[in-house]
Amino acid sequence: MEFRSNFENPKLTNKNQYMKFSTKAIHAGQQPCPTTGAVMTPVYLTSTYVQEEIGKHKGYVYSRIANPTRTALEQNIAALENGKHGIAFGSGMAAVDAIFRLLKPCDHVIISHNVYGGTYRLAKQVLEDYRLQFEFIDTTNIKLVEQTIRQETRMIFVETPTNPTMEITDLKAIVKIAKGNRLISVCDNTFATPYLQQPLEYGIDIVVHSLTKYLNGHSDMLGGLVVTNDMKTAERLRFIHKSTGGILSPFDAWLCLRGVKTLPIRMEQHSTNAIQVARWLLKQRKVKRVLYPGLPSHPQHKLAKKQMKKFGGMISFDLGSFEKAKKFLKKVQLCALAESLGGVETLISHPATMTHASVPKDQREKSKVTEGLVRLSVGLENVDDIIKDLQQALKNI
Ligand SMILES: *Cc1c(COP(=O)(O)O)cnc(C)c1O
Repeated sequence: MEFRSNFENPKLTNKNQYMKFSTKAIHAGQQPCPTTGAVMTPVYLTSTYVQEEIGKHKGYVYSRIANPTRTALEQNIAALENGKHGIAFGSGMAAVDAIFRLLKPCDHVIISHNVYGGTYRLAKQVLEDYRLQFEFIDTTNIKLVEQTIRQETRMIFVETPTNPTMEITDLKAIVKIAKGNRLISVCDNTFATPYLQQPLEYGIDIVVHSLTKYLNGHSDMLGGLVVTNDMKTAERLRFIHKSTGGILSPFDAWLCLRGVKTLPIRMEQHSTNAIQVARWLLKQRKVKRVLYPGLPSHPQHKLAKKQMKKFGGMISFDLGSFEKAKKFLKKVQLCALAESLGGVETLISHPATMTHASVPKDQREKSKVTEGLVRLSVGLENVDDIIKDLQQALKNI
């Protein structure tokens, strides 16, 4: 069953496909309250809903199953991805977990080798105990993806750009392989957001997001969201969602609804700031390697240009050793040393000891998450101030 939001404007919803992205970001899934005229969708802080008589209700029964604030967000982000169905979870990891629950014991998953560290941990340290099989490979190598398929393979899970090495996987090629072998294709679109890249348009079956990052964009909530066009997949995911209960709270849904309205202008500015920082980093003698898909020196720059509208706000760079990275991260002042990304403020982190600490050293080295690697989530401050801070920190190592 599909839930209709009280605040869904049927006129606008039907026109979703004709509305431009920025308009959808502000209006999709929402309309002024029919009773009070309130322009903003309220936070429905209710666990349950009154029923007129047995079996007669307005579509809402219990807030684990559906809540109007959450429904508005689900419809909004589904519209941004050009998808039909959206399902919101309490975190990105809960959303990823629900996707893997589409599988059965012994099923085999081909997965990008440098996915988010939490996805790696979920696969290796939780789900392998339930006899799912995960094979972490370089999914930028399409031949290798093809060679890795075996009889039990059911799913290809890619992240592009990857975290933190910014590798780009060719979504069109992945879809071709998935369709040819009857595999479910999944793309973690957290880094790019639907503003920069729309995997469903390439034929990817399921898109997953950590709302915590760019979609909310203000570092004040956690959430996850799954989007698909396939009715059967959506039904099964909704069933898993209500049965396992990892749902998004109404207040967090409301925060994200507010945040997502400015997604287009934020992503424009993140991208503009990041390319300037990346170019500056490239000129620094103490910086050994700069990983940003917007740089012509990036190995998949051409593919990124084709697949993405712009290149986003994430940059990784290598300072050569753990000691240098440690010193540098102690010296930064404006850039906050913290996990997470995608907020208005610049965040900086050390993947090997932070986001990717649960990935074993040999696997980390294989996926080039070196000890000297620093990850930067370029914020919306004036770019001169960001560069000035990086400059003074570099001077001191
Ligand atoms: C943060 C992140 C996740 C996990 O999301 P949470 O909201 O922290 O649970 C998954 N994938 C990527 C790419 C992420 O950056």
